[in-house]
This record gives sequence, C-alpha cells and structure tokens, in this order.
Amino acid sequence: MLPAPLPPDFIPFNRPHLAGPELDYIRQAVAAGKLSGNGEFTRRCQQFFEQQYGINKALLTTSGTAALEMAALLLDIQPGDEVIVPSYTFTSTANAFVLRGARIIFVDSHPEHPNLDVAQLELLITARTRAMVVVHYGGHPPADLPALLALAERYNLWVVEDAAQAIEARYHDRPLGTFGHLAAFSFHETKNLSAGEGGLLAVNDPRLAERAEIIWEKGTNRAAFARGEAARYEWVDIGSSFLPSELNAAYLWAQLEARATIQRRRQQQWQFYATALAPLAAAGTLRLLPAIPDAQPNWHLFALLCRSEAERDALLAHLRQRHILAVFHYLPLHRSPYYAPRHDGRPLPHADRFSRTLLRLPLYHELQPEQQQRIVGAVKGFYSMNT
Ligand SMILES: *Cc1c(COP(=O)(O)O)cnc(C)c1O
Repeated sequence: MLPAPLPPDFIPFNRPHLAGPELDYIRQAVAAGKLSGNGEFTRRCQQFFEQQYGINKALLTTSGTAALEMAALLLDIQPGDEVIVPSYTFTSTANAFVLRGARIIFVDSHPEHPNLDVAQLELLITARTRAMVVVHYGGHPPADLPALLALAERYNLWVVEDAAQAIEARYHDRPLGTFGHLAAFSFHETKNLSAGEGGLLAVNDPRLAERAEIIWEKGTNRAAFARGEAARYEWVDIGSSFLPSELNAAYLWAQLEARATIQRRRQQQWQFYATALAPLAAAGTLRLLPAIPDAQPNWHLFALLCRSEAERDALLAHLRQRHILAVFHYLPLHRSPYYAPRHDGRPLPHADRFSRTLLRLPLYHELQPEQQQRIVGAVKGFYSMNT
C-alpha cells in the first residue's frame, strides 16, 4: 500500500534550503575532475573557518558524528576512561566516546535550561575523568561556560564542544566552537547550514593539529605528503575515512556564502514566534527558553515548554490534526535502552523534565509568514481550550 499523500496545506518540521549556487558548484567540482576529499571546495570551506572563526585547524568531516568520533580518537580515550556528557543531547555526543570504551558519566540539565548544569560538574570528576563534552543546545552556551573552562583547567581535563547546533552563534563576541580544545559542527540537513550530511572538526589546540590530519586521512600522512612535507606517503597512525567528497563540500560552500541571508531569515522567523507567543509566556501558560547573557544566538530552533508531558503531547496532537508537524526531543540518554543498564543510577530530574515538556515548532528557510500565522493561531487555539 502506498503511504497516504500529505495534505496540500501540510507544514513540515523542516525542509532543506537551496541557497542558489549549490548545483553550479557541484558542476564545477565535477568539471575539475576531482571528486574525492580534500580538493578545492574542501580547502575553501576549511579556510573560511580558520580565517573567520580563528580556528587553528578546521577539517571537514562526513558528519557531526564523525567529527565527535575523531575527537575521541585524537584525545586517545581508552577503555575505562570517564567522559562527562549531558544526558539531554543527541546519541552521537556520548556514542563517539563509547566506541573507544569510555564510561559515560551523565550530568543533569540546568534547572532553567536544557544545557548541562555547570554547578554539578565538579562532584562528577574522578581520577579516571579525561574529558567533558559541552553541548550548545539550540546554539546557546551554558550561562557559566567560563566556570566550566576553569574547572577543566584546574583538573587538567580536555573540553570538547558539541557545537553541532551552534554554527554562527557567539559568546562574548567569539564564535562557539572556539572555546574547547576541540569542537564538532554539523551540516546535517536539519541544521542552519547544510551539506545534506556533513560536519567539521575544529582543532583549537595546536598540539592536536598534526595528528588530527592523519586520523582524518585513514591514518596516513597523505595531507603532509601532498604539501611536500613528507618524503613518503605511508601509514603512520590509526585513523579512518573522515573526509567528505568534494560534492558535499561544493554544496556546503554555497551555504557558507549565503550564511548572512540564511541567518537573517531565521532570526525574523524566530522573532515572529517569540513576539506572537509572548502574551502566553507572560501569563505563565507556557514558557520559552531564557536568553543567555553575553550570548549571540543563531536561532537554530524555536522551543516552548509546556506545563506537563500530557499537555505537551496533547498540543503535538492538536497541531498534527491541523497538518502542522511539531516535534519533541530528546529522550534523555541515561534512560536510553542502550545506556540505562550502564548508567550509575543517579536521578537526572531536569533532563527528564525538559524531555517531557519541550516542544519544537517548524523553523526553516521557506516557511512563510502565513504558515507561521497558522501555527501560532493553532497554539493559541489549543491554550484557549486548555487554560
Ligand atoms: C545534529 C547533532 C549531532 C550529529 O550531527 P550529524 O551531522 O547528524 O552526525 C550531534 N550532536 C548534536 C547536539 C546534534 O544536534
């Protein structure tokens, strides 16, 4: 049986955006006769991040997940090492380290924000702790990121930023993804800038740069050899195939060029929701995520917080009936089928609460003002029946 066609007025949660020159650039890559990784478009993208963001070494990857896996390899995470990770995040944040045999110590969310609670970190550090992963949920840093960095320094721990959602976001006027020793960005279809699938490893600590390039190129010194810095091209370390093809890099380059336009539109759409829902927030009917002081957001997602799980699920169903696809996330990792039996049993009530009550509204470039009006009308209609 064929799936039922979508109703003509259906509003999806996300839709990939074509900035314009993507197909042209892909054609150029094909004409250049080099489609494997580390070609001209890859170089342009990486140089953009090194020059505009001040990243010591930027390496394009096949996904944000791959960038996190590279981070775990680079930090030489060994079986039994402990890595502190928020429970409220996407699977890859933890899985990348589990692949190296690490034990994940989950940290709860901050009471006011789904990001990890920096105040709880110190109690979780043991002699086996090697690294902390900070996730910038929705492109927001934790409010006390400086305290996290100071703690890492005091205990000599690596800091990895999961900046998958944080492209173009800033803190104290510095790009997110430049604060940790390493950072992972994602160019998945659902992120602000996309390559279909893609990612970037930001190597901010120069001590890690040389080995990063080797791990990226299947454990070989191919990149150094190509620059004339090595006499022979050979296998020198462990690694994998982490670099994307030029086809993906060409697509990404078009999105990077268009980033100002893409971001401006997201900001307007985000602001539309925030203004329209402000009265409900002021009345305490629903809550919006708080702004983080000194942070410049990237408008990655628009989330609202319901008063209970039942209310959130009813609102999702209400929107679905009106042909609007809103979603929730995340199911906290300490409760996941894979990690629950391995978790140390500490309750993480705030991660649980955000998981039960958070709802994301559609937000994508082609979303039209009339559609946003319909979404807001449906949310208000729901609350006029459920006050
Ligand atoms: C999207 C995302 C990832 C994974 O990125 P992919 O490019 O899809 O592999 C990791 N962490 C977070 C927080 C994400 O949002």
